[in-house]
Amino acid sequence: MIRVLVWCENKQNKTDADVIRVYPNGMHNAIADFLNKDPEIEAKTATLDDPECGLTDDVLENTDVLIWWGHIAHHEVPDEIAKKVQNRVLNGMGLIPLHSAHFSKPFKLLMGTTCDLSVPGHFKENLWCTLPGHPIAKGIPNPVELEVEEGYNEYFDIPQPDELVFIGAFEGCRLFRAGCAYHRGRGKVFYFQPGHETYPIYHTPFIQKIITNAVKWASNK
Ligand code: ZN
Repeated sequence: MIRVLVWCENKQNKTDADVIRVYPNGMHNAIADFLNKDPEIEAKTATLDDPECGLTDDVLENTDVLIWWGHIAHHEVPDEIAKKVQNRVLNGMGLIPLHSAHFSKPFKLLMGTTCDLSVPGHFKENLWCTLPGHPIAKGIPNPVELEVEEGYNEYFDIPQPDELVFIGAFEGCRLFRAGCAYHRGRGKVFYFQPGHETYPIYHTPFIQKIITNAVKWASNK
């Protein structure tokens, strides 16, 4: 079994009516629920509310792939915990930062750049595959169409991905490297842009399939 931990800061899940409407049980539970439908995956959750952010040495040691969703509380994750996540990735754990987790501390540590980007508005998105033979793209149509998503735009201040799997195209010729795969030490990282908190992105079957594929790619199993 691939042991997945879905980590979420769990802030807007509790306070923002627009988020609660889309994810009544929280985004982390929505993600863990679809992952647990796969017989090869066992997904659990952890949040900022848990002691040590739910990321104790024991938990990290027993996690094959960590999924990370954060937005307004990146600064509340202690530096020493972010460093532990970085080290665990270098020792073989997979990391999948989603959407606004481009600014999460573990991702920034692993990239070594600002990971800054611009947010021009909210638009329809076409997610185009740029590497059809990649395991994360298996069974995914080209493009995946998202009726509305928060637009992210280049320049995205990341190192050149080892494998660029998807590009997001938004209204007005705005482009964004939306699916970026990296190898860091013995571990793998896949940054995936879709997933603004007020849209049902993680209820979308092909997005669920991409994240499930990414879990299998990022696990060292
Ligand atoms: Zn967003």
